[in-house]
Amino acid sequence: MLPQTLQAARLRLVKSHPYLSSAAWALRPVEKPGLETLAVDMYWRLYYDPVVITRWTVEELAGVLYHEIMHLLRDHASRMQNFDRNAANIAADAEINDDLIAEGVKLPEAAGRCYCSGLHRAAGWPSGRRILCCAPGAAVCA
Ligand SMILES: [Zn+2]
Repeated sequence: MLPQTLQAARLRLVKSHPYLSSAAWALRPVEKPGLETLAVDMYWRLYYDPVVITRWTVEELAGVLYHEIMHLLRDHASRMQNFDRNAANIAADAEINDDLIAEGVKLPEAAGRCYCSGLHRAAGWPSGRRILCCAPGAAVCA
C-alpha cells in the first residue's frame, strides 16, 4: 500500500492534472530504503525511499510524481537504452524539468537536485541552472 504522504501527493497531482489520473493510479509502489528519491522503471513500478518522502512536502512529492510519470509517458526507458545511462538520465530529467518549472510545478529544493554545469554548458543553458536528478551524485553531476 502506498504511504499516506504519497497518496496525498497523488491526489494533489490528479486534482491539478486530471489527464494524468490513469497513469498515476497505474503506478505500482515499491519501497526502496536508501534510494534517496523516487524512480520508475519501464514496468511502471514506482520506487520510493520511505525516509525521503517524509522530508518533502505533499506539493513537492506531487511534483516528483509528475516528473516520474513524464519519464513513463515519454517512454524514456526505451528511448535511452542505447545511450550512457547516467548521461541519458540527466538529459531526460532536464527535458522534463524545463517543462515542469515553466508550468510552475514545485520540486524539492535539496535532496534529489544537483548542478550539472558541464551538461548545461553543452546544452547552452545558463550556468548553475538547477535540475532534478533521479540519481543524485551521478558521476556527470558536479
Ligand atoms: Zn527523472
